Amino acid sequence: MQTNMEQIFTFIDQESTFIEEQENATYLEGVIYSLELWLSDKKAPVLNNPDKEEIRKGIQLAILKGMKKAVQVNHQMTPDAIGLLVSYFIKEMTKGKKELSILDPALGTGNLLYTVMNMLDGEKNAFGVEIDDLLIQLASQTGELLECDIQLFRQDALKPLLIDPVDIVVSDLPVGYYPDNETSKDFFLHSTEEMSYAHHLFIEQSMKHVKPGGHLYFLVPETIFESKQASNLHKFIKEYGWIEAVIQFPASIFKTKGQEKSLLILQKKSDVLKAPREVLLAKVPNMSNKTALELFFRKIDIWRE
Ligand code: SAM
Repeated sequence: MQTNMEQIFTFIDQESTFIEEQENATYLEGVIYSLELWLSDKKAPVLNNPDKEEIRKGIQLAILKGMKKAVQVNHQMTPDAIGLLVSYFIKEMTKGKKELSILDPALGTGNLLYTVMNMLDGEKNAFGVEIDDLLIQLASQTGELLECDIQLFRQDALKPLLIDPVDIVVSDLPVGYYPDNETSKDFFLHSTEEMSYAHHLFIEQSMKHVKPGGHLYFLVPETIFESKQASNLHKFIKEYGWIEAVIQFPASIFKTKGQEKSLLILQKKSDVLKAPREVLLAKVPNMSNKTALELFFRKIDIWRE
């Protein structure tokens, strides 16, 4: 017998393949079509009391299949291994909070944000911003099937956002140059020598939309503090926030060399809080090394205490 996750994948896969072959559409457009069938109750997978993670993972498998066929690096879904680790940190650092507002300004398919939301207890209300039509449709349909309290905005996240400051920002940032020089001029982190880095501008925009004392969890290029524009980024972070942790992931998680990312955890300054005593610098060991993983999590516990 198939698990709920397999049933969901098989259902979406069959419908998407049919649409791809019959309608001259892409597989991902087929995924949107199948999720629409499911949401409108016209046709749905046969499921046995699925939980939210089974639904998320079933949809994620189909989107991954579609993304293998054609997708740019910067549009790729955040891998589950990373999403789960990010969720672990957020869960540990928000223990005891009954209500949380969360923003992902580069939402993509929503996979990272939904992974985090599924892991957190208590009430959550979320906001997602995404510029790409197809990805935000996937995120919207997945959010509906997961019955998430989420508001979505299809727009350039570096333009003004109608979103009140949140408790947490979590985002797998798009990396590279931001082409809109006019918009970037309004940012402290714009570059006068070359085009500005989109990932730096996203950090600044996120800082604006988080409450004082709130945390920001970014997936950033491993070399973020070694680039030409890094000194400005240092200045910005020093002025508005505190670095809490920089965590490197094992290279084996990433498909291509040069795409390695780290998790950068920041806190927005607040008059009633003090800077963290110690910045956590750690490297996640290879996931197959159980002893090393246990040691890693122990190190995190000690740091947190
Ligand atoms: N976490 C996402 C997921 O699990 O699917 C993946 C995020 S992906 C690495 C980065 C996303 O940023 C892409 O979906 C891309 O379309 C989006 N993006 C790039 N520039 C943007 C902009 N200026 N405003 C809003 N979204 C943008």
